[in-house]
Amino acid sequence: MKASVLRKPSGIETNPLQFSEVERPIPGTDQVLVRVEVCGVCRTDLHVIEGELPPWKSPVIPGHQVVGTVEEAGESAKRFAPGTRVGIAWLNRTDGTCDFCRRGEENLCDHPEFTGYTVDGGYAEYVAAPEQFVYAIPAGFPSEHAAPLLCAGIIGYRCLRLSGIQAGENLGFYGFGAAAHVAIQVARHWGVKVFASTRDERHQTLARELGAVWAGGTLEAPPVALDAAIVFAPAGEIVPAALGALRKGGRLILGGIHMSEIPAFSYDLLYHEKLIRSVANNTRQDGVEFLKLAAEIPIRTHVKVYPLSEANLALNALKNDAIPGAAVLRICS
Ligand SMILES: [Zn+2]
Ligand SMILES: [Zn+2]
Repeated sequence: MKASVLRKPSGIETNPLQFSEVERPIPGTDQVLVRVEVCGVCRTDLHVIEGELPPWKSPVIPGHQVVGTVEEAGESAKRFAPGTRVGIAWLNRTDGTCDFCRRGEENLCDHPEFTGYTVDGGYAEYVAAPEQFVYAIPAGFPSEHAAPLLCAGIIGYRCLRLSGIQAGENLGFYGFGAAAHVAIQVARHWGVKVFASTRDERHQTLARELGAVWAGGTLEAPPVALDAAIVFAPAGEIVPAALGALRKGGRLILGGIHMSEIPAFSYDLLYHEKLIRSVANNTRQDGVEFLKLAAEIPIRTHVKVYPLSEANLALNALKNDAIPGAAVLRICS
C-alpha cells in the first residue's frame, strides 16, 4: 500500500515524510482493517514529525483523524460489518487494568497506545485498529468534513467540558486553528460568548465569521474579564497573558500535548483562586458524546484537502498558519 512514512524526526521544512510503498497491515484478532478515505492533519502530527514528542516507533506512519470503511475484521472483532464507515482517533488502545482505567480516566492510562505515534496511523491506504476504540461516524458528514472532528473536535470538546463554562459566560480562545474553529460552534450552541486571541489575521477573520464577539492579537487583552479560557496554541508565553485576562476564580485550560516553556510569572496573576489545568487525550465517552453533539448542532468544519502524496506540504502550511480551519489528506476515493 501507499503511505507517507516518517523514518527520522526532522523539521517539517525539510519535508521528512516519504511517500512510499509499505506492507499493508494485517488486523489482529480484536482489530478492524480500515480502508482510509481521508485523514485529518493535526498539530500533534507536527510534534511527532519534528521530534518534540520523543520518538516511540520508527519508522512510523503518522495520522490520527482517520475516516474510512471497514475492509475486514479480526476473529473476535464483530462490532462493525465490512463496508461500515468508521473513524479512528488518537487514543488507539488502553490496558483497561491500570488504576486510571479502572476509575474511568482511560485518557490517563499508564500503558496507552496512540494512533500515528506508538502505532501506525492513517497517512496510508490502510490502517488497523482495535474495534473497541473505533467510532461510528454520523451519516450527515462528508468524510473530509468528519475527519477534523476526531481529534480537533473531540479534544476541543474535552477542553470546553473541563473549563466548566456556562451559558452567558465569557470564554477566551488562544490560537484559532482546527480545534478552536470546531469548539466555537459548540460554545455558541451552549450560549457562550467567545473571545478569540490569535496572531494570524485570516484566523481572526474566521473566528468573527464563526461568531466570536471579539477577535484580536495573541497577547492583546480581550475587552472583558474572561470566566474561562482555553489555550490551543503551543506557545508558553500565552499562559501569563491568559491568566491576566481571567476574572477572579477563572479557569485556564491548556489544550495541547506539547507547549514551549512557560515563562516565570508573578503569583498575582494566579491569585484569587484561578485554576490552570492541562488536557491529556480523551476518553471514548468524550468521543461518543461529542460526535452525537456534532451531528445535532450540526458542526460545519472548514477544510483544505491535499492528496496523501503532499502531506509535507499540508504540514508546512499548518506550521505557517496558512490553513483557516483544518487540513485533510485524501487517500482513497
Ligand atoms: Zn490503563
Ligand atoms: Zn490530534
